[in-house]
Amino acid sequence: MIKINEIFFSIQGESSYAGWPTVFVRTSGCPLRCSYCDTKYAYYEGERLSVDEIVEKIQGFSTKYVCITGGEPLSQGKTFALMAKLCDMGYTVSIETNGAEPVKALDTRVKKIIDVKTPDSGAADTFLMQNLEHTTPLDEFKFVICSEKDFHWAESFVKEHHLHEKNLVLYSPSFGCVNEEWLAKQILENKSLARLQLQLHKYIWTPNKRGV
Ligand code: SF4
Repeated sequence: MIKINEIFFSIQGESSYAGWPTVFVRTSGCPLRCSYCDTKYAYYEGERLSVDEIVEKIQGFSTKYVCITGGEPLSQGKTFALMAKLCDMGYTVSIETNGAEPVKALDTRVKKIIDVKTPDSGAADTFLMQNLEHTTPLDEFKFVICSEKDFHWAESFVKEHHLHEKNLVLYSPSFGCVNEEWLAKQILENKSLARLQLQLHKYIWTPNKRGV
């Protein structure tokens, strides 16, 4: 059984898959407490479902792309079996993970979006360095940037571990801490090897953002 917070259909807002119609499977529970967490409602609330029950719900939506998110999906062992089954069924699958859980046993058909927690995230030093050895070129690293200090820390981490040579590196502005224009300028001025990532869903679903 996997404790599930919600299963819903929306537009993928992050990663190189941004813009795709997506079924999101949000698992419950996360051992971290990031300062900017926007899914606190998933820390405890949820319903225990079997892999087959989850797959049945996914099949009710008209897309072949599934994103497993959280909470922290890898906190629950059965998530691995769910992802393998979805891949076997022909789904494109990605997972958003906090970087603090081992990714070694993950099916290599799954795109891993691995968070590296910055100093100002409130969860600094939780990244499991051994995860660097268990990625494929399909995978992506994500840094949520909360400050100028975070930006330069991320730059050093990317360069020290040559992340950009094998994987896409994404920098997201932490909502309410730094804005996208500031981060775009930092990327340009510092000749960063990262790609700016905006959380598309927040622009789409913010009421009256564009006056319509
Ligand atoms: S890892 Fe994700 S779910 Fe967990 S506290 Fe941080 S932002 Fe929230």
